[in-house]
Amino acid sequence: MAISRKPSRKKPLRRPRRASAAENGHRSARLFARAQKILVGGVNSPVRAFRAVGGAPLVIDRARGSRLWDVDGREYIDYVCSWGALILGHADPKVVSAVANQARRGTSYGMTSPLEIDLGERIACAIPSIERIRFVSSGTEAAMSAIRAARGFTGRDFILKFEGGYHGHADSFLVEAGSGLATLGISASPGVPAALAQLTLNAPYNDVAAVEKIFARHAGKIAAVIVEPVAANMGVVPPAPGFLDSLRRITSRDGALLIFDEVITGFRLAYGGAQGIFSVRPDLTVLGKIIGGGLPVAAYGGRREIMESIAPLGPVYQAGTLSGNPLAMRAGLTTLPRLEAPRFYDALGAKSLRLSEGLRKALRDTGIPGEVNATGSLLTLFFSSGPVRDFAGAKKADTARFAAFFREMLRRGIFLPPSQFEALFISAAHTEDDIDRTVSAARQSLEYIAPKE
Ligand SMILES: *Cc1c(COP(=O)(O)O)cnc(C)c1O
Repeated sequence: MAISRKPSRKKPLRRPRRASAAENGHRSARLFARAQKILVGGVNSPVRAFRAVGGAPLVIDRARGSRLWDVDGREYIDYVCSWGALILGHADPKVVSAVANQARRGTSYGMTSPLEIDLGERIACAIPSIERIRFVSSGTEAAMSAIRAARGFTGRDFILKFEGGYHGHADSFLVEAGSGLATLGISASPGVPAALAQLTLNAPYNDVAAVEKIFARHAGKIAAVIVEPVAANMGVVPPAPGFLDSLRRITSRDGALLIFDEVITGFRLAYGGAQGIFSVRPDLTVLGKIIGGGLPVAAYGGRREIMESIAPLGPVYQAGTLSGNPLAMRAGLTTLPRLEAPRFYDALGAKSLRLSEGLRKALRDTGIPGEVNATGSLLTLFFSSGPVRDFAGAKKADTARFAAFFREMLRRGIFLPPSQFEALFISAAHTEDDIDRTVSAARQSLEYIAPKE
């Protein structure tokens, strides 16, 4: 199929429909009913089921640029962007043709190819703390492997994470985690042995004193602190000034490793990731999402002597059948150079600013309490009446109001992440016109859900 490069951006969005239930979303409803009889909950990842927001989950037919179309032909401006993976938007023509060309040369070799070397070098060049890297296929796998390497290298068992932080679904991380667990109100997951969960310590995000206290109690026993340098899985919560520096200081003093989980922030906030912006050098970095250009790629990397404890150089075992597969490497290699273009991140940031300011004004004008937290092209509108600095603050947000807002936005053709505890992702494919439509839909939605006196 030929790919037209002409964007159809000026086409008007379909107006909110008031059609009968049978007509509106008929195919989606039928397909989702079928999905529920074969896929657990009708989905392959929990947040897709819309449990926190209600209404019928989307069943997607196709996507392009900033837009998604469901199987009923309804068009949406997409702020999920495959949970942040698609910084260039959907079906970017260059990424699509790179993947198609590669497919003809083989989809997986099970041996090293030059593509893995190229992508590894490119990432190490952007993020200098990464001296050695290992590619894997999901962020979960990368974060799990990073703490295994940290435990193997230090000979210590404890890890410290932050409440509301999400590092994938490996056993050690499913304690007070963000993302889907926050959405569904799960604080500890059955299936994780208590003996293992006890080795996961939790501190409130942005709370240096709590971290100091935990290190005092477990001196010399903590293998690593793992942190999202800008938290984005409890909704967006930026680090307080000095927070990341303090983590660096405390871990270095104790001989623990500092792991930045940059699965979202890597190549999202800046080409060098959050660590470039905040000038803090972690021992290990976890990457995912953007580096795969929409295909399943993740990676972990960092200081050479730590990474050399991994097989085949060292005894810490980690492997993967499809790791570094050439299709995914091509998608990443086509995506990353585009992000290096001058002012790429400025343009993204400007759109994000336009959206966050538009949303703040709409909140003010409608008198609905809310806070917009934004960093770069990450943004969350919390329906809360005070600033949100940690998970406890995020959880004070009015999730029922968020759900109502989400549904009104969806009806107006705007697809937000279906949870109060997720970030909106803005891509290079979003236009100012998309943003303006979104702000005006938000204003209408807020007016619609405002308490009527
Ligand atoms: C998405 C995410 C992960 C997990 O990545 P998957 O590819 O979904 O397994 C880990 N850490 C952070 C910060 C994430 O946002």
